[in-house]
This record gives sequence, structure tokens and C-alpha cells, in this order.
Amino acid sequence: MNKSIKETEKTVRLTGNPASGGIGMGPAWIMPESKASVKPEKIDKSKAESELDRVQKAVGDVLDGFEKLKSGSEGDEINQILDAQIEVLKDPQLMEEIRSKIIEKYFGPSYAIFESFNKYIELLDGTNAEWAKERMVDIVSIRDELMQTLQSRNYDMLVEKSSIVFADEISATDLIKLSSMDISGIVMHKGGLTSHAVILAQSLDLPCVVGVDWQRVKVQQKAPVLLDGDSGEIFIHPSEEKRENFIERQQLHKEKKSKVLEWAEKPAETNCGSSFTIRANIEFENELARLKTHGAKGIGLLRTESCLFQSTNFDVEAQMKFYRTVVEKADGESVTIRLFDAGGDKLLEDHGNESNPFLGWRGIRMLLDKPEMLHHQIEAILRISGEFPGQLKLMVPMVSRIEEIESVHQTVENVKQTLKEKGISFDDDLPIGIMIEVPGIALMASEAAEIVDFFSIGTNDLTQYTLAVDRGNEHISGLYTSTHPAVWRLIKMVKEGADTQGIPVSVCGEMAARPELAACFLGMGINEISMTTNSIPSVKSVLCRSSLREMQKLAEHVLGSTHVKKADELLKEWLHEKTESLNR
Ligand code: PEP
Ligand code: MG
Repeated sequence: MNKSIKETEKTVRLTGNPASGGIGMGPAWIMPESKASVKPEKIDKSKAESELDRVQKAVGDVLDGFEKLKSGSEGDEINQILDAQIEVLKDPQLMEEIRSKIIEKYFGPSYAIFESFNKYIELLDGTNAEWAKERMVDIVSIRDELMQTLQSRNYDMLVEKSSIVFADEISATDLIKLSSMDISGIVMHKGGLTSHAVILAQSLDLPCVVGVDWQRVKVQQKAPVLLDGDSGEIFIHPSEEKRENFIERQQLHKEKKSKVLEWAEKPAETNCGSSFTIRANIEFENELARLKTHGAKGIGLLRTESCLFQSTNFDVEAQMKFYRTVVEKADGESVTIRLFDAGGDKLLEDHGNESNPFLGWRGIRMLLDKPEMLHHQIEAILRISGEFPGQLKLMVPMVSRIEEIESVHQTVENVKQTLKEKGISFDDDLPIGIMIEVPGIALMASEAAEIVDFFSIGTNDLTQYTLAVDRGNEHISGLYTSTHPAVWRLIKMVKEGADTQGIPVSVCGEMAARPELAACFLGMGINEISMTTNSIPSVKSVLCRSSLREMQKLAEHVLGSTHVKKADELLKEWLHEKTESLNR
């Protein structure tokens, strides 16, 4: 989070991390915070039945609201998110929990709802996994909505058209609701760049800035606001001059966006004729529609951990169904399925609280301790590989030692043997690769390359582990710099290690989504990159209009720098010159 706050006499300027591009203009709307607690009030026994009726009616009203939003929306992804919320509200266990608190224990309906939902929320809270945190935000929002509906209080009426919403954190459901009210931008204190809400804001074309400590300045309801989702700047009470400038920029943004999308269909080739590959990072089914529109050539990283929560019984068949849907949408192109990278989930009751979760029980470490889970996932992937031979790859996350790779190979062999005995087909040549996210394995790249088919560099984690900077800690966010020369040098070592065995290397961390960094990768000979679908057209438009020679030169300079600042300047200058010359 690179926050800074500068106040002039009238205008307040805030900055944060640009998460979804575009210009937003309108009055501020401060989203109410969720309740931290609800008092355990008791009701009269004689009122229990009628209070339960009230809750059931409120559930019905919220469900109707979701159905209405669904019918008014055109996107598959919105419908899928709403379906997940509907599923929660229809969960018989949760409803029974609420019922018994009212009918058998005579608690008031608000407390019954609050406590019953909290059981779910606490379970997710204990996992420390990123996907679980996002799911938690969704469930808190359904809980709050249900309580508000029960009290006939809803904020729908309060949000003016074109509002810029200021929230601590926003759930996907709230975002969908707010977007149907014609808001023009979002400012959040929390929330990662790949959070549910951010992915949605991008696909809804809503400018969004995250990591903004807006609560520190007094933003008043309805104060006029300008928001720049590309630079991460926010102006409260802007001058007239600033406002005019933003109107112009809004127009320019629109034009640029439609221009850049034209690159999606063009061949992925530098201007000197060297080809490269851009694939997509996919986490949710609802992102698949953008593979085609944004020009992705298959999927370089399929994150599978969100599935662990979406189904309470994530068995082989259920996994196969998900993988099949994804592969079918990939249009015959390669799909790399990553094994679960969760640190724990609701299936793992034995997962306690860790004091250092990022250095803890996650990825392959956890899977090797859960042989049945690993076996099931590998079985599902192998069976799908039989349906799409030659199209799938299997990728192992969080590898830190050679033994872990050997253990995965052993499990794959065991599963293959079982499948053979059962006469079930699979792709016997399914490539098996690893994520390079831990410096320890990066340093062993040439040895690891002897026993795997490919490397994919996860720069999000590689950066935090190389620099000892927690990627979620706002106090040291300024130190989380993927452009640190040490990170570049490690990446170079990984490439050289891979070259000793002639195995391919790709990058699937967020670094690849910045055009100037992607150019550096090409300059280093890494010509396969994978990123969120929304970033593909702009990255492609820059790479296609650059020569391999200039990208090699850029990479040499960046690798040769000793200071982070110097590397940053070189990259910034290169991109600036590039965009200037392209605009000429
Ligand atoms: C990474 O670490 O760069 C990566 C792609 O994995 P994730 O962001 O899912 O940890
Ligand atoms: Mg990672």
C-alpha cells in the first residue's frame, strides 16, 4: 500500500494502489461499517414463532433481491457470484442454526442471525488463506444485509447516482448491488489487487483504488470527489480546473481502452518478428469469458483453492466437473492446473492458527500431510487429462525442496497405477512442473530442472520471500518491490537453471501484468507470461510494438542496477518513452 495524504486548504488528495482503471466523478458515499457485535437479547417465548416468521420473510426478501439483480444482469460472472450467495441463504444447516436459537433458546432474531453466521465466518477466519478471507467478506455482507432487511433498513435509498463509494472493504455482492445503482467509483482501505471485489470492479468497468487510508481524513457524505483508477489518485473537494481536467481524461481513457482491446486479436509477435505467449491466470469460472475477448492463449495458472470452499464435499467428480468446464473454455489451448495452495480450509479442522502463516503450512507442504486430498486432486487432473490429451499440465505450488517434487512424482505414479487397474484413461505424458516462489528452490533450479517438465515463476511470493517483506503488511508495503534487483537476479538464475535441461520457464506472478516488466522478461529470454485477463491487451500492445533487442537492453540495465530506485527509474523511463513514441 503506497498511501500518502496531502492536504491543501480545500482539496484533500489521497493516493492508493490503482486496482481498476478509469475516471470516476461524483459525491462521496461512506459505506456503513459492519457490526462488531450484537447483544444476546432474549425474547418472550410466546413471540418465538412470529420472530422466526419475520426472519424467514427477511430471507425471502433478500433472496428476491438477489434474483432481481440476476435478472437485471448480463454477465455470467455476476450471476455465478449471486448464485453462491443464494446458496448460503438456502443452506439448511445455517437456517436450522438460526431457527433453534429463536425457537429453542429464545434469542432475538438479530442475535440468532449474527451468531449463526459467525460460526461460518470464524471457521474461515482461522484458515489464513487469501481465498477464505474473500469468502468471509461475502458472508459478512449477506449477514448484514439480512439483519438490515429484518430491521427494514436498507442503504439502497441513500446512494446517489454517480457516487464514489468509500468502504473499509467491499464484498462482491455489495459491489454488484452498488453497480446497479450507477455508482462511478470505489475506494477501499483493505482488499488485495486480486480480490474478488477488484476482479469484479475490473469486469464491471468501475474505477477502483485500494489501500487508501481514507478514514484518517474526514471524508464527508456527499463531498465532491474525483477518482483516477489508473494512477490511484483521489481528490476530495477538487478545484474547478481539476474537475475539467478529469472530464478530459475520462474521454481519453474511453478512447484508449477501446484501442487497446484491438490488440487482443493480433498475433503475439514483437515488431522484429519474435513470437511470445500470453496466457491467463484464472481463479473463478466467471473469468473464463474474457479468455477470448482479451486475447489469452490458454491458461497459465488455474488457481484451484477457491473450489475447496465452494463445495462442502469437493470430491474427485466435483473437481473433474470444474476442470472440464475450464478446459472446454480454453479453446484447445494449454491449461496449467495448480494443486491446492490453501493453508487450510473448512475441511481441515486440525489446522490451527499459525503465527507466521506465510512461512507455514501451505501449498505442497500441507498436501503432503494430506495424502488423500493430494491423491484425489491428482486423480481428478489425470482423469481430465484423458479427456483432453496433450492439453493439460499439472503444477505444484510452494515447493522448497527437491524431496517434495519426488513425493509428488511418487503420488502421480501411484494414482496412474490405480487408474490403469481400473481401466480409466489418462494422459501418460501429462507434464508436471513447479512454481518457483521460494528462493531456496530458485537456488536449486538446475537440479530441480532435471526432474520437472517446466517452471512457472510466482513473483508475488518470490518477492516477499526474497525480500522478507510480508505482502499484506501495510507498514512495510513500500519495501514490497518486485523490481528489486535481487528479484531480477534470482529470476535470471532460474532461467539459467532451466536452460541447463532445456525446460520452459514462464512467469505467472503479477509482475507479468506490467508491460515494462513483461518486456524485461522477454529480454531475458522468458517468452511465456501469464496474467489476469484484464491486463493482457495493454501488455500485448506494448510488447507487439517493441523489438527484442530493446527489451534485451532494458533487461541488461535492470539486472545490472544495484539500487531499487535505479531499477524503477529505468523501467519507468522505458515505459514512458515507449508510450510517448507510440502515441506520436
Ligand atoms: C505468486 O506467488 O506469484 C502466484 C502466482 O501465486 P499466488 O498469488 O496464488 O500466491
Ligand atoms: Mg504464490
